[in-house]
Amino acid sequence: MTIFTKIINREIPSEIIFENEKVIVIKDINPQAKTHLLIIPKKEIPTINDIQEEDTELIAELFFVAKNVAKNLWVSDWYKLHFNVGEKGGQEVMHIHLHLLSNI
Ligand code: AMP
Repeated sequence: MTIFTKIINREIPSEIIFENEKVIVIKDINPQAKTHLLIIPKKEIPTINDIQEEDTELIAELFFVAKNVAKNLWVSDWYKLHFNVGEKGGQEVMHIHLHLLSNI
């Protein structure tokens, strides 16, 4: 089980910004910008390399949630979205998550 699944299951605390059936959004514990959120699917998928055709809607949902959260937090003028892929790509938690960063 990943640390993000433990957060989803409320086994460890986190600052939850948004949640629905499929996705949770939390504040990054070690923020790299004024706003640094993680948009995480509840389904455990280790890396972007592991997504299957059946996951495409879920991946799209991550971006849909990202833009809604950006709007609600008043950072929609500009923000950055990225995935780290693989250890060499800087991925530490093997449960895909979309980073949202803004310095507004
Ligand atoms: P990555 O390097 O792309 O795997 O990103 C993992 C991110 O998760 C990092 O930015 C960490 O700061 C963040 N992180 C790790 N543990 C926690 C936690 N318990 N709560 C919130 N964010 C976390």
